[in-house]
Amino acid sequence: MASSAADPAASAELFARARAVTPGGVNSPVRAFSNVGGTPRFIERAEGAWLHDADGNAYVDLVASWGPMLLGHAHPEVTAAVQAAVSRGTSYGTPTRPEVELAEEIVARTPVERVRLVSSGTEATMSAIRLARGFTGRDVVVKFAGCYHGHVDALLAAAGSGVATHAVPGSPGVPEAVAAATLVLPYNDRAAVAAAFAEHGDRIACVITEAAPGNMGVVPPAYVDGEGFNAYLARTCRDHGALFISDEVMTGFRASRRGQWGLDGAHEGWTPDLMTFGKVMGGGFPAAAFGGRADVMALLSPDGPVYQAGTLSGNPVACTAGLTTLRLATDDVYAHLDRTATVLAEAASQAFTAAGVPHLVQRTGTMFSLFLTEDEVAEIVDFAGAQAQALHRFRAFFHAMLEQGVYLPPSAYEAWFVSAAHDDRAVEHVLAALPAAARAAAAATPGETA
Ligand SMILES: *Cc1c(COP(=O)(O)O)cnc(C)c1O
Repeated sequence: MASSAADPAASAELFARARAVTPGGVNSPVRAFSNVGGTPRFIERAEGAWLHDADGNAYVDLVASWGPMLLGHAHPEVTAAVQAAVSRGTSYGTPTRPEVELAEEIVARTPVERVRLVSSGTEATMSAIRLARGFTGRDVVVKFAGCYHGHVDALLAAAGSGVATHAVPGSPGVPEAVAAATLVLPYNDRAAVAAAFAEHGDRIACVITEAAPGNMGVVPPAYVDGEGFNAYLARTCRDHGALFISDEVMTGFRASRRGQWGLDGAHEGWTPDLMTFGKVMGGGFPAAAFGGRADVMALLSPDGPVYQAGTLSGNPVACTAGLTTLRLATDDVYAHLDRTATVLAEAASQAFTAAGVPHLVQRTGTMFSLFLTEDEVAEIVDFAGAQAQALHRFRAFFHAMLEQGVYLPPSAYEAWFVSAAHDDRAVEHVLAALPAAARAAAAATPGETA
């Protein structure tokens, strides 16, 4: 049944052709196997919890398109709604009903008062920052190391501990002036935030953070005297006239039915000035959004002077996919995701314990990730902690899972994503693969490539 050939000849052939015409052979770097070695699998179709590659292998999918596929692949109702939408024409360059309904759904479920639809999470964060700068008349953006907000120039900057003085672009091609206007602080570090505001407070336009980071592996916001890191940031921004941007591109509508992580009753709420969404709200199509306070959003073109636009923004097919997905994502769906995440996280932890591999499982809502630490570690609170991993063990684990028909994120710094379609058969398939893969991780030696 779901076994994986040792030599993925068809994927290898496609990969060779891809590399001849596309840098690295992939259209987004996370899809390459550069962190784990080997040949990326070329997927030809997917249904429910399963991916099928060009070599005829099947895999239980724990990537879910990096988050969006909350209901599983090719959900019959989403597929039918999309097919009907396509048959009405795919793009008109005019306002349409699906975009009104999707915006209404987002406003109803989240703290945002007004929302603008865009086509990618990157566009959403880029536009939110422009708007925050326009609203405050300030330039500086504060972000946290290890948080990913898309490939926006200002958000790729990594300044290290030298903060403003030693700002260097995190990627060649980002102008130094742009990087210099970005302060990168350690996640969960309130003293660093306080120091940044003490020194640069009147220049800070906004603080942007993942509501519950998943892009360095899952690192939950820390609580101090009952106040979570998000609430602390919202309060600090308010005190200094800066805007608080909560990036929920990954967490929004995945961690809970409400678009905002933390509004599940287990955590105190906070109200961001601006929020960004993507992934799940597009239902597997390019749709994303940013929104927030009505007085801030009023500055956007055509009501206000801050320009923002998009030929395919609010595309009717993408909005139909997103809207259908959100309407089908009931409380039962989130309860199922929660149970599935618990079963998988506990089983993974048991397998590593049995194999004698130091590890840590961290969770926020239905997202979780596994850190194969060098030694036993109680908690990972920031990017520096997340980076201290035995990557050779992850590589061996990843490939042993892949060979047994389980598709994990090909990186040690990513969350695992489950879907409503992960039924008992899919879950049991993963559980059966874990012990041997954990033993492969135990046997791996540093420097070994897969
Ligand atoms: C994926 C992601 C983005 C970028 O979204 P794209 O659609 O890939 O541009 C931004 N922020 C967060 C938190 C994300 O996880």
